[in-house]
Amino acid sequence: MRLADRLAQMETALAAMLEELQDLRMQVLALDAQNEQLRLQLYAQKDHREGHEHLTRLYEEGFHICPAHFASGRAEGEDCLFCLSFLQRRQRPE
Ligand SMILES: [Zn+2]
Repeated sequence: MRLADRLAQMETALAAMLEELQDLRMQVLALDAQNEQLRLQLYAQKDHREGHEHLTRLYEEGFHICPAHFASGRAEGEDCLFCLSFLQRRQRPE
């Protein structure tokens, strides 16, 4: 094979590799963005769950968590319907 032909062949191969490299680079960027998105979602869910656990504990310790009477003491042994529905609503992630 002539040297010029071999050079042309190598150039073609190199161009194909560069194209593949570009594809891979785009995939990495897409995966990075997706990863970041998932991480944000995970943190949001964790915050939401921890917030809910904190409110549940406060309620079980005998305090109101409903917006109207927040943090004031509940009558002993009596449930507050506003608190309960507030907790229930918060249980579903937005
Ligand atoms: Zn209440």
